[in-house]
Amino acid sequence: MLGKLTRWLRMLGYDVEYSNKLDDAQLIATAKKEQRTLLTRDLELYQQATTKGVTAFYLEGKTEAEKLAHLAKRFNIKLVIDMATSRCTKCNTQVKPTSKENVADRVENSTFSHYNDFWECPKCRQIYWQGAHWAKIRKTLETAEENLTNMNKQ
Ligand SMILES: [Zn+2]
Repeated sequence: MLGKLTRWLRMLGYDVEYSNKLDDAQLIATAKKEQRTLLTRDLELYQQATTKGVTAFYLEGKTEAEKLAHLAKRFNIKLVIDMATSRCTKCNTQVKPTSKENVADRVENSTFSHYNDFWECPKCRQIYWQGAHWAKIRKTLETAEENLTNMNKQ
């Protein structure tokens, strides 16, 4: 249910695990064992987790920007992507800068000719660059920041 938000949080540099295969009891046990905060939109799961001593957060908000704003308010997370700490959206590993030569035969020609800065996931080898989609990413984060400002005014 929160797969998209997981990718956002990883981009922002947060260590986030996600599963849609574990049942409620397994989610709570995993959060407890790994000392993670359980994020959920399931009120029952949230209450169960809290009862069992797991830090949990019942996530409100319709859009990704609204969800991010709620998280930022509760956990004081930064709504800015810093590639030095950014994590692979696919596998949660911190990405590392890589050379343009290194990605030459692994990205489209148009991407290769337009961009100079690339990052690579050391684990799954996914390549990242701040491409055309980046404007949309920035916009969502700006909207999240605005939502946060409005929430703090209330
Ligand atoms: Zn990866």
